[in-house]
Amino acid sequence: MSEKVQVAVIGGGPGGYAAAFLAADLGFEVALIEKRKNPGGVCLYEGCIPSKALLHAAHALSEARHAEKIGISFGEPRVDLNRLRDWKNEVVEKLTGGLGQLAKARKVRFIQGRASFVSAHALKISGTDGESSLEFEHAIIATGSEPVRFSHFPESDRIMDSTGALELRDVPERLLVLGGGYIGLEMCTVYAALGSKVTVCEMADALLPGTDEDLVRPLAEKIRSICEDVMLGAKVTDVQVESDGLRVRFDGLNLKTPEAKFDRILVSAGRRPITDGLGLENTAVRVTDRGFIKVDEQRRTSEKNIYAIGDVAGQPMLAHKASHEGRTAVEALAGKKVAFEPYAIPAVVFTDPEIAYCGLTERQAKEQGRTVSVARFPWAASGRTLTLARTEGFTKLLIDPETNRVLGAGIVGPGAGELIAECVLAIEMGAVAEDLALTIHPHPTLSETIMESAEVFLGHSTHVYRPKK
Ligand code: FAD
Repeated sequence: MSEKVQVAVIGGGPGGYAAAFLAADLGFEVALIEKRKNPGGVCLYEGCIPSKALLHAAHALSEARHAEKIGISFGEPRVDLNRLRDWKNEVVEKLTGGLGQLAKARKVRFIQGRASFVSAHALKISGTDGESSLEFEHAIIATGSEPVRFSHFPESDRIMDSTGALELRDVPERLLVLGGGYIGLEMCTVYAALGSKVTVCEMADALLPGTDEDLVRPLAEKIRSICEDVMLGAKVTDVQVESDGLRVRFDGLNLKTPEAKFDRILVSAGRRPITDGLGLENTAVRVTDRGFIKVDEQRRTSEKNIYAIGDVAGQPMLAHKASHEGRTAVEALAGKKVAFEPYAIPAVVFTDPEIAYCGLTERQAKEQGRTVSVARFPWAASGRTLTLARTEGFTKLLIDPETNRVLGAGIVGPGAGELIAECVLAIEMGAVAEDLALTIHPHPTLSETIMESAEVFLGHSTHVYRPKK
Protein backbone atom coordinates (compact mmCIF):
# COMPACT_ATOMS: atom_id res chain seq x y z
CA MET A 1 0.00 0.00 0.00
CA SER A 2 1.25 3.45 -0.89
CA GLU A 3 2.10 5.89 1.91
CA LYS A 4 1.16 9.54 1.82
CA VAL A 5 2.86 12.79 2.91
CA GLN A 6 1.82 16.41 2.64
CA VAL A 7 5.10 17.55 1.07
CA ALA A 8 7.54 15.41 -0.94
CA VAL A 9 10.88 17.02 -1.75
CA ILE A 10 12.94 15.37 -4.49
CA GLY A 11 16.66 16.03 -4.15
CA GLY A 12 18.56 16.81 -0.95
CA GLY A 13 20.83 19.67 -2.06
CA PRO A 14 20.83 23.16 -0.51
CA GLY A 15 17.50 23.84 -2.27
CA GLY A 16 15.84 20.57 -1.27
CA TYR A 17 17.00 20.25 2.32
CA ALA A 18 16.30 23.94 3.10
CA ALA A 19 12.78 23.47 1.71
CA ALA A 20 12.19 20.18 3.56
CA PHE A 21 13.44 21.61 6.87
CA LEU A 22 11.26 24.76 6.59
CA ALA A 23 8.21 22.70 5.62
CA ALA A 24 8.75 20.53 8.72
CA ASP A 25 9.26 23.64 10.87
CA LEU A 26 5.90 24.93 9.59
CA GLY A 27 4.23 21.69 10.72
CA PHE A 28 3.92 19.74 7.46
CA GLU A 29 4.55 15.99 7.18
CA VAL A 30 7.58 15.89 4.91
CA ALA A 31 9.52 13.28 2.95
CA LEU A 32 12.93 14.12 1.48
CA ILE A 33 13.97 11.70 -1.25
CA GLU A 34 17.65 11.72 -2.15
CA LYS A 35 19.94 9.31 -3.97
CA ARG A 36 22.81 9.76 -1.53
CA LYS A 37 23.17 8.57 2.06
CA ASN A 38 22.61 12.03 3.54
CA PRO A 39 21.33 15.45 2.45
CA GLY A 40 23.88 17.90 1.05
CA GLY A 41 23.62 17.60 -2.74
CA VAL A 42 26.26 18.74 -5.18
CA CYS A 43 27.06 21.71 -2.95
CA LEU A 44 28.30 19.64 -0.02
CA TYR A 45 29.47 16.45 -1.74
CA GLU A 46 31.15 17.73 -4.89
CA GLY A 47 30.75 21.49 -5.16
CA CYS A 48 30.95 24.50 -2.84
CA ILE A 49 32.31 22.78 0.26
CA PRO A 50 35.05 20.43 -1.02
CA SER A 51 36.24 23.10 -3.49
CA LYS A 52 36.51 25.68 -0.72
CA ALA A 53 38.35 23.20 1.52
CA LEU A 54 40.93 22.66 -1.22
CA LEU A 55 41.10 26.40 -1.93
CA HIS A 56 41.89 26.91 1.75
CA ALA A 57 44.83 24.53 1.33
CA ALA A 58 45.91 26.42 -1.82
CA HIS A 59 45.69 29.67 0.12
CA ALA A 60 47.86 28.30 2.93
CA LEU A 61 50.46 27.23 0.35
CA SER A 62 50.58 30.57 -1.43
CA GLU A 63 50.61 32.51 1.86
CA ALA A 64 53.57 30.42 3.04
CA ARG A 65 55.39 31.10 -0.24
CA HIS A 66 54.63 34.83 -0.16
CA ALA A 67 55.65 35.23 3.46
CA GLU A 68 59.22 35.41 2.21
CA LYS A 69 58.44 38.88 0.86
CA ILE A 70 57.87 40.14 4.42
CA GLY A 71 60.87 38.37 5.91
CA ILE A 72 59.44 35.00 6.98
CA SER A 73 60.73 31.85 5.38
CA PHE A 74 59.24 28.38 5.93
CA GLY A 75 61.12 26.66 3.13
CA GLU A 76 59.32 24.90 0.26
CA PRO A 77 56.01 23.46 1.61
CA ARG A 78 55.53 19.67 1.49
CA VAL A 79 52.03 18.37 0.73
CA ASP A 80 50.70 15.10 2.15
CA LEU A 81 48.04 14.45 -0.46
CA ASN A 82 46.42 11.58 1.47
CA ARG A 83 46.02 13.71 4.58
CA LEU A 84 44.69 16.65 2.56
CA ARG A 85 42.15 14.40 0.81
CA ASP A 86 41.11 12.81 4.12
CA TRP A 87 40.65 16.21 5.73
CA LYS A 88 38.50 17.43 2.84
CA ASN A 89 36.41 14.23 3.04
CA GLU A 90 36.06 14.64 6.81
CA VAL A 91 34.67 18.16 6.31
CA VAL A 92 32.11 16.82 3.82
CA GLU A 93 31.13 13.87 6.06
CA LYS A 94 30.76 16.07 9.11
CA LEU A 95 28.46 18.50 7.32
CA THR A 96 26.35 15.91 5.48
CA GLY A 97 26.08 13.75 8.62
CA GLY A 98 24.98 16.84 10.54
CA LEU A 99 22.26 17.48 7.98
CA GLY A 100 21.10 13.87 8.35
CA GLN A 101 20.78 14.47 12.10
CA LEU A 102 18.90 17.73 11.55
CA ALA A 103 16.45 15.92 9.24
CA LYS A 104 15.86 13.29 11.93
CA ALA A 105 15.43 15.89 14.67
CA ARG A 106 12.76 17.61 12.56
CA LYS A 107 11.04 14.29 11.81
CA VAL A 108 11.59 14.71 8.08
CA ARG A 109 11.28 11.24 6.50
CA PHE A 110 14.59 10.85 4.70
CA ILE A 111 14.26 8.22 1.97
CA GLN A 112 17.42 7.18 0.16
CA GLY A 113 16.49 6.45 -3.44
CA ARG A 114 15.71 7.80 -6.88
CA ALA A 115 12.26 9.31 -7.31
CA SER A 116 10.17 9.64 -10.45
CA PHE A 117 6.63 10.87 -10.95
CA VAL A 118 3.94 8.36 -11.88
CA SER A 119 1.28 11.08 -11.70
CA ALA A 120 0.86 14.62 -10.35
CA HIS A 121 0.20 13.11 -6.92
CA ALA A 122 2.41 10.03 -6.71
CA LEU A 123 6.08 9.04 -6.92
CA LYS A 124 7.82 5.76 -7.57
CA ILE A 125 10.99 5.45 -5.51
CA SER A 126 13.77 3.04 -6.43
CA GLY A 127 15.68 2.70 -3.20
CA THR A 128 18.31 0.52 -1.64
CA ASP A 129 15.55 -1.85 -0.44
CA GLY A 130 13.71 -2.06 -3.77
CA GLU A 131 10.78 -0.08 -5.14
CA SER A 132 8.12 1.77 -3.18
CA SER A 133 5.53 4.43 -3.89
CA LEU A 134 4.65 7.63 -2.13
CA GLU A 135 1.63 9.85 -2.57
CA PHE A 136 1.86 13.56 -1.88
CA GLU A 137 -0.25 16.71 -1.75
CA HIS A 138 2.61 18.98 -2.83
CA ALA A 139 5.97 18.16 -4.39
CA ILE A 140 9.11 20.24 -4.74
CA ILE A 141 11.59 19.24 -7.44
CA ALA A 142 15.17 20.06 -6.42
CA THR A 143 17.18 17.63 -8.52
CA GLY A 144 19.96 20.10 -9.34
CA SER A 145 22.39 19.91 -12.23
CA GLU A 146 25.31 17.91 -13.60
CA PRO A 147 28.43 18.79 -15.60
CA VAL A 148 28.09 19.17 -19.37
CA ARG A 149 30.00 16.31 -21.03
CA PHE A 150 31.88 16.50 -24.30
CA SER A 151 30.62 13.40 -26.10
CA HIS A 152 33.24 13.81 -28.87
CA PHE A 153 36.11 13.32 -26.37
CA PRO A 154 37.56 9.79 -26.10
CA GLU A 155 36.95 7.61 -23.03
CA SER A 156 39.88 8.04 -20.67
CA ASP A 157 40.31 8.21 -16.91
CA ARG A 158 42.72 11.08 -17.58
CA ILE A 159 39.67 13.22 -18.53
CA MET A 160 37.74 14.41 -15.52
CA ASP A 161 34.95 16.79 -14.56
CA SER A 162 34.87 18.97 -11.43
CA THR A 163 33.76 15.98 -9.33
CA GLY A 164 36.82 14.02 -10.49
CA ALA A 165 39.10 17.00 -9.90
CA LEU A 166 37.82 17.33 -6.31
CA GLU A 167 38.65 13.67 -5.62
CA LEU A 168 42.29 14.77 -5.78
CA ARG A 169 43.58 11.38 -6.96
CA ASP A 170 46.99 12.87 -7.76
CA VAL A 171 48.67 16.12 -8.76
CA PRO A 172 49.12 15.85 -12.54
CA GLU A 173 52.33 17.33 -13.81
CA ARG A 174 50.52 19.01 -16.70
CA LEU A 175 46.83 19.82 -16.41
CA LEU A 176 44.57 21.33 -19.07
CA VAL A 177 41.55 23.16 -17.66
CA LEU A 178 38.87 23.49 -20.32
CA GLY A 179 36.65 26.43 -19.44
CA GLY A 180 37.58 29.72 -17.81
CA GLY A 181 34.43 30.05 -15.72
CA TYR A 182 34.48 30.16 -11.93
CA ILE A 183 34.71 26.39 -11.40
CA GLY A 184 37.61 26.06 -13.86
CA LEU A 185 39.50 28.96 -12.30
CA GLU A 186 38.95 27.73 -8.74
CA MET A 187 40.29 24.29 -9.68
CA CYS A 188 43.15 25.91 -11.60
CA THR A 189 44.05 27.82 -8.41
CA VAL A 190 44.06 24.60 -6.37
CA TYR A 191 46.12 22.50 -8.77
CA ALA A 192 48.60 25.27 -9.57
CA ALA A 193 49.22 25.76 -5.83
CA LEU A 194 49.76 22.01 -5.43
CA GLY A 195 52.38 22.11 -8.18
CA SER A 196 50.66 21.26 -11.49
CA LYS A 197 51.64 23.17 -14.61
CA VAL A 198 48.20 24.38 -15.62
CA THR A 199 46.95 25.56 -19.01
CA VAL A 200 43.52 27.21 -19.19
CA CYS A 201 41.63 27.14 -22.48
CA GLU A 202 38.54 29.36 -22.81
CA MET A 203 36.39 29.78 -25.92
CA ALA A 204 35.39 33.38 -25.13
CA ASP A 205 37.91 36.18 -25.44
CA ALA A 206 38.08 36.72 -21.66
CA LEU A 207 38.13 34.71 -18.45
CA LEU A 208 34.87 34.60 -16.47
CA PRO A 209 32.71 35.50 -19.48
CA GLY A 210 29.84 37.77 -18.47
CA THR A 211 31.63 39.33 -15.48
CA ASP A 212 32.57 43.04 -15.52
CA GLU A 213 35.98 43.34 -17.19
CA ASP A 214 37.51 45.60 -14.53
CA LEU A 215 36.77 43.01 -11.82
CA VAL A 216 38.32 40.23 -13.90
CA ARG A 217 41.54 42.12 -14.73
CA PRO A 218 43.44 41.66 -11.41
CA LEU A 219 42.44 37.98 -11.28
CA ALA A 220 43.39 37.39 -14.93
CA GLU A 221 46.85 38.80 -14.18
CA LYS A 222 47.22 36.43 -11.23
CA ILE A 223 45.96 33.43 -13.21
CA ARG A 224 48.50 34.19 -15.95
CA SER A 225 51.24 34.33 -13.33
CA ILE A 226 50.42 30.92 -11.83
CA CYS A 227 49.62 29.12 -15.13
CA GLU A 228 51.85 27.83 -17.86
CA ASP A 229 49.47 29.24 -20.48
CA VAL A 230 46.06 30.91 -20.72
CA MET A 231 44.41 30.51 -24.14
CA LEU A 232 41.51 32.83 -24.88
CA GLY A 233 39.26 32.59 -27.92
CA ALA A 234 40.52 29.03 -28.32
CA LYS A 235 38.96 25.58 -28.42
CA VAL A 236 40.06 21.97 -28.43
CA THR A 237 39.61 20.30 -31.80
CA ASP A 238 41.04 16.86 -31.04
CA VAL A 239 42.13 14.72 -28.11
CA GLN A 240 44.21 11.56 -28.66
CA VAL A 241 44.81 9.10 -25.82
CA GLU A 242 48.46 8.00 -25.73
CA SER A 243 50.14 5.61 -23.32
CA ASP A 244 51.67 8.42 -21.27
CA GLY A 245 49.12 11.21 -21.62
CA LEU A 246 46.64 13.06 -23.78
CA ARG A 247 47.67 14.80 -26.99
CA VAL A 248 45.45 17.83 -27.54
CA ARG A 249 45.04 20.01 -30.63
CA PHE A 250 43.76 23.55 -30.33
CA ASP A 251 42.18 26.01 -32.73
CA GLY A 252 42.25 29.77 -32.21
CA LEU A 253 44.14 32.98 -32.78
CA ASN A 254 47.40 33.85 -30.98
CA LEU A 255 48.07 30.31 -29.77
CA LYS A 256 51.52 29.68 -28.28
CA THR A 257 51.24 26.17 -29.67
CA PRO A 258 48.54 24.38 -31.73
CA GLU A 259 49.26 21.07 -30.00
CA ALA A 260 50.36 20.04 -26.51
CA LYS A 261 50.48 17.01 -24.24
CA PHE A 262 48.79 16.80 -20.82
CA ASP A 263 48.56 14.25 -18.03
CA ARG A 264 44.95 15.16 -17.32
CA ILE A 265 42.14 17.32 -18.69
CA LEU A 266 39.54 18.94 -16.45
CA VAL A 267 36.39 19.69 -18.44
CA SER A 268 34.52 22.53 -16.73
CA ALA A 269 32.36 23.81 -19.53
CA GLY A 270 29.11 24.43 -17.70
CA ARG A 271 26.33 22.45 -16.07
CA ARG A 272 22.92 21.26 -17.23
CA PRO A 273 19.71 20.75 -15.25
CA ILE A 274 18.73 17.17 -14.28
CA THR A 275 15.24 16.22 -15.44
CA ASP A 276 15.99 12.90 -17.19
CA GLY A 277 14.17 9.94 -15.69
CA LEU A 278 12.00 12.15 -13.46
CA GLY A 279 8.76 11.06 -15.17
CA LEU A 280 7.77 14.66 -15.90
CA GLU A 281 5.77 13.33 -18.87
CA ASN A 282 3.32 11.91 -16.30
CA THR A 283 2.62 15.44 -15.05
CA ALA A 284 1.88 18.84 -16.60
CA VAL A 285 5.38 20.10 -15.61
CA ARG A 286 7.10 21.72 -18.61
CA VAL A 287 10.72 22.55 -19.37
CA THR A 288 12.23 25.50 -21.27
CA ASP A 289 14.23 25.03 -24.46
CA ARG A 290 17.39 25.07 -22.29
CA GLY A 291 16.07 22.19 -20.22
CA PHE A 292 15.18 24.12 -17.04
CA ILE A 293 11.81 23.47 -15.41
CA LYS A 294 9.40 26.35 -16.14
CA VAL A 295 8.32 28.10 -12.94
CA ASP A 296 6.47 31.25 -11.93
CA GLU A 297 7.57 33.81 -9.33
CA GLN A 298 6.49 31.45 -6.53
CA ARG A 299 8.48 28.62 -8.15
CA ARG A 300 5.27 26.81 -9.05
CA THR A 301 5.48 24.70 -12.21
CA SER A 302 2.74 24.30 -14.82
CA GLU A 303 1.30 21.60 -12.47
CA LYS A 304 -0.25 23.60 -9.65
CA ASN A 305 0.78 21.37 -6.69
CA ILE A 306 4.36 20.86 -7.95
CA TYR A 307 7.17 23.39 -7.46
CA ALA A 308 10.77 23.45 -8.75
CA ILE A 309 13.76 25.19 -7.17
CA GLY A 310 17.53 25.51 -7.46
CA ASP A 311 19.72 24.59 -10.42
CA VAL A 312 16.93 22.64 -12.12
CA ALA A 313 14.74 25.76 -12.17
CA GLY A 314 17.17 28.16 -13.86
CA GLN A 315 20.13 30.48 -13.51
CA PRO A 316 22.06 31.52 -11.56
CA MET A 317 23.11 28.02 -10.50
CA LEU A 318 24.15 28.92 -6.96
CA ALA A 319 23.51 27.27 -3.62
CA HIS A 320 22.15 30.35 -1.84
CA LYS A 321 19.72 31.04 -4.69
CA ALA A 322 18.51 27.41 -4.42
CA SER A 323 17.90 27.70 -0.65
CA HIS A 324 16.01 30.96 -0.97
CA GLU A 325 13.83 29.57 -3.74
CA GLY A 326 13.15 26.59 -1.47
CA ARG A 327 11.84 28.90 1.24
CA THR A 328 9.65 30.75 -1.27
CA ALA A 329 8.14 27.50 -2.61
CA VAL A 330 7.34 26.21 0.90
CA GLU A 331 5.79 29.49 2.00
CA ALA A 332 3.76 29.55 -1.23
CA LEU A 333 2.40 26.05 -0.70
CA ALA A 334 1.63 27.02 2.90
CA GLY A 335 -0.66 29.70 1.45
CA LYS A 336 1.54 32.73 2.15
CA LYS A 337 1.64 35.62 -0.31
CA VAL A 338 5.27 35.40 -1.40
CA ALA A 339 7.38 35.78 -4.54
CA PHE A 340 11.02 35.12 -5.37
CA GLU A 341 12.08 38.54 -6.58
CA PRO A 342 15.46 39.50 -5.10
CA TYR A 343 17.18 42.72 -6.18
CA ALA A 344 20.59 41.22 -5.59
CA ILE A 345 21.83 37.62 -5.70
CA PRO A 346 25.53 37.67 -4.82
CA ALA A 347 28.04 35.73 -6.92
CA VAL A 348 31.49 34.91 -5.58
CA VAL A 349 34.55 33.51 -7.35
CA PHE A 350 36.71 32.05 -4.57
CA THR A 351 40.01 32.44 -6.38
CA ASP A 352 42.95 34.53 -5.18
CA PRO A 353 42.08 37.40 -5.45
CA GLU A 354 38.40 36.71 -4.94
CA ILE A 355 35.75 38.40 -7.07
CA ALA A 356 32.28 39.15 -5.71
CA TYR A 357 29.43 41.13 -7.14
CA CYS A 358 25.69 41.65 -6.70
CA GLY A 359 22.79 43.61 -8.10
CA LEU A 360 23.24 45.59 -11.31
CA THR A 361 26.57 45.11 -13.12
CA GLU A 362 28.21 47.64 -15.42
CA ARG A 363 27.74 45.21 -18.28
CA GLN A 364 23.99 45.00 -17.59
CA ALA A 365 23.68 48.79 -17.16
CA LYS A 366 25.30 49.23 -20.58
CA GLU A 367 23.05 46.59 -22.20
CA GLN A 368 19.97 48.25 -20.68
CA GLY A 369 21.15 51.74 -21.72
CA ARG A 370 20.84 52.77 -18.09
CA THR A 371 22.82 55.74 -16.72
CA VAL A 372 24.65 54.90 -13.51
CA SER A 373 27.48 56.48 -11.56
CA VAL A 374 30.33 54.09 -10.84
CA ALA A 375 32.27 54.97 -7.68
CA ARG A 376 35.53 53.03 -7.27
CA PHE A 377 37.75 52.91 -4.21
CA PRO A 378 41.21 51.49 -5.01
CA TRP A 379 42.49 49.12 -2.35
CA ALA A 380 45.95 50.68 -2.68
CA ALA A 381 44.47 53.60 -0.68
CA SER A 382 43.38 51.35 2.22
CA GLY A 383 45.53 50.93 5.31
CA ARG A 384 44.20 47.41 5.84
CA THR A 385 45.20 46.16 2.39
CA LEU A 386 48.74 47.49 2.92
CA THR A 387 49.02 45.57 6.19
CA LEU A 388 47.95 42.45 4.27
CA ALA A 389 50.40 43.20 1.42
CA ARG A 390 47.43 42.91 -0.97
CA THR A 391 46.72 46.21 -2.69
CA GLU A 392 45.69 45.00 -6.14
CA GLY A 393 41.93 45.04 -5.57
CA PHE A 394 39.17 47.62 -5.55
CA THR A 395 35.59 48.10 -4.45
CA LYS A 396 32.99 49.73 -6.70
CA LEU A 397 29.42 50.78 -6.25
CA LEU A 398 26.91 51.39 -9.02
CA ILE A 399 24.68 54.23 -7.93
CA ASP A 400 21.61 55.85 -9.45
CA PRO A 401 22.76 59.48 -10.01
CA GLU A 402 19.20 60.81 -9.60
CA THR A 403 18.28 59.14 -6.31
CA ASN A 404 21.73 58.15 -4.95
CA ARG A 405 20.31 54.63 -4.49
CA VAL A 406 22.84 51.78 -4.50
CA LEU A 407 22.00 49.50 -7.43
CA GLY A 408 24.98 47.19 -7.65
CA ALA A 409 28.41 46.45 -6.24
CA GLY A 410 31.58 44.66 -7.28
CA ILE A 411 34.66 43.81 -5.25
CA VAL A 412 37.93 42.18 -6.23
CA GLY A 413 40.54 41.28 -3.63
CA PRO A 414 41.06 38.80 -0.81
CA GLY A 415 37.93 38.43 1.30
CA ALA A 416 35.62 39.93 -1.38
CA GLY A 417 33.19 37.05 -0.82
CA GLU A 418 32.70 37.98 2.84
CA LEU A 419 32.47 41.72 2.12
CA ILE A 420 29.76 41.53 -0.53
CA ALA A 421 27.02 40.66 2.00
CA GLU A 422 26.97 44.28 3.22
CA CYS A 423 26.31 45.46 -0.33
CA VAL A 424 23.53 42.87 -0.81
CA LEU A 425 21.83 44.15 2.34
CA ALA A 426 22.27 47.77 1.21
CA ILE A 427 20.65 47.02 -2.16
CA GLU A 428 17.80 44.96 -0.69
CA MET A 429 17.05 47.71 1.88
CA GLY A 430 17.06 50.43 -0.77
CA ALA A 431 20.06 52.15 0.83
CA VAL A 432 21.41 55.36 -0.69
CA ALA A 433 25.11 56.28 -0.87
CA GLU A 434 24.75 58.44 2.26
CA ASP A 435 23.59 55.37 4.28
CA LEU A 436 26.83 53.55 3.51
CA ALA A 437 28.99 56.65 3.96
CA LEU A 438 27.40 57.47 7.34
CA THR A 439 27.64 53.93 8.69
CA ILE A 440 30.68 53.74 10.97
CA HIS A 441 32.88 50.90 9.75
CA PRO A 442 35.59 49.38 11.96
CA HIS A 443 39.16 50.46 11.26
CA PRO A 444 41.37 49.06 9.87
CA THR A 445 39.22 46.66 7.84
CA LEU A 446 38.52 45.91 4.21
CA SER A 447 34.87 46.79 4.88
CA GLU A 448 35.90 50.46 5.02
CA THR A 449 36.41 50.27 1.25
CA ILE A 450 32.61 50.01 0.85
CA MET A 451 32.08 53.12 2.97
CA GLU A 452 34.83 54.95 1.09
CA SER A 453 33.36 53.97 -2.30
CA ALA A 454 30.13 55.67 -1.21
CA GLU A 455 32.22 58.67 -0.13
CA VAL A 456 33.93 58.69 -3.54
CA PHE A 457 30.47 59.00 -5.09
CA LEU A 458 29.62 61.87 -2.72
CA GLY A 459 32.95 63.56 -3.52
CA HIS A 460 34.51 63.39 -0.07
CA SER A 461 36.40 60.15 0.40
CA THR A 462 39.04 60.67 3.09
CA HIS A 463 41.71 58.54 1.45
CA VAL A 464 41.36 59.44 -2.23
CA TYR A 465 41.15 62.97 -3.53
CA ARG A 466 38.48 62.97 -6.19
CA PRO A 467 36.25 66.06 -5.84
CA LYS A 468 32.75 65.72 -7.34
CA LYS A 469 32.51 67.47 -10.69
P1 FAD B 1 22.04 19.98 -6.01
O1 FAD B 1 22.95 20.49 -4.98
O2 FAD B 1 22.59 19.65 -7.35
O3 FAD B 1 21.34 18.71 -5.39
C1 FAD B 1 20.46 17.93 -6.12
C2 FAD B 1 20.32 16.59 -5.43
O4 FAD B 1 19.25 15.89 -6.03
C3 FAD B 1 21.56 15.71 -5.56
O5 FAD B 1 22.02 15.35 -4.29
C4 FAD B 1 21.08 14.49 -6.35
O6 FAD B 1 21.66 13.27 -5.88
C5 FAD B 1 19.59 14.50 -6.06
N1 FAD B 1 18.75 13.91 -7.12
C6 FAD B 1 18.79 14.18 -8.45
N2 FAD B 1 17.83 13.47 -9.07
C7 FAD B 1 17.17 12.76 -8.12
C8 FAD B 1 16.07 11.87 -8.13
N3 FAD B 1 15.43 11.56 -9.27
N4 FAD B 1 15.67 11.32 -6.96
C9 FAD B 1 16.29 11.61 -5.80
N5 FAD B 1 17.34 12.46 -5.72
C10 FAD B 1 17.76 13.04 -6.87
N6 FAD B 1 27.46 27.45 -5.56
C11 FAD B 1 27.64 28.46 -4.69
O7 FAD B 1 26.68 29.14 -4.34
N7 FAD B 1 28.89 28.74 -4.17
C12 FAD B 1 29.98 28.02 -4.53
O8 FAD B 1 31.08 28.31 -4.05
C13 FAD B 1 29.83 26.96 -5.44
N8 FAD B 1 30.89 26.21 -5.80
C14 FAD B 1 30.71 25.15 -6.64
C15 FAD B 1 31.81 24.39 -7.00
C16 FAD B 1 31.66 23.30 -7.84
C17 FAD B 1 32.85 22.48 -8.21
C18 FAD B 1 30.35 22.97 -8.34
C19 FAD B 1 30.15 21.80 -9.24
C20 FAD B 1 29.25 23.73 -8.00
C21 FAD B 1 29.42 24.84 -7.15
N9 FAD B 1 28.34 25.64 -6.78
C22 FAD B 1 28.52 26.69 -5.94
C23 FAD B 1 26.99 25.40 -7.32
C24 FAD B 1 26.11 24.70 -6.27
O9 FAD B 1 26.71 23.49 -5.90
C25 FAD B 1 24.73 24.45 -6.84
O10 FAD B 1 24.19 25.67 -7.32
C26 FAD B 1 23.80 23.89 -5.77
O11 FAD B 1 24.29 22.70 -5.25
C27 FAD B 1 22.41 23.67 -6.35
O12 FAD B 1 21.59 23.18 -5.36
P2 FAD B 1 20.30 22.32 -5.71
O13 FAD B 1 19.62 22.10 -4.40
O14 FAD B 1 19.55 22.95 -6.81
O15 FAD B 1 20.82 20.94 -6.30
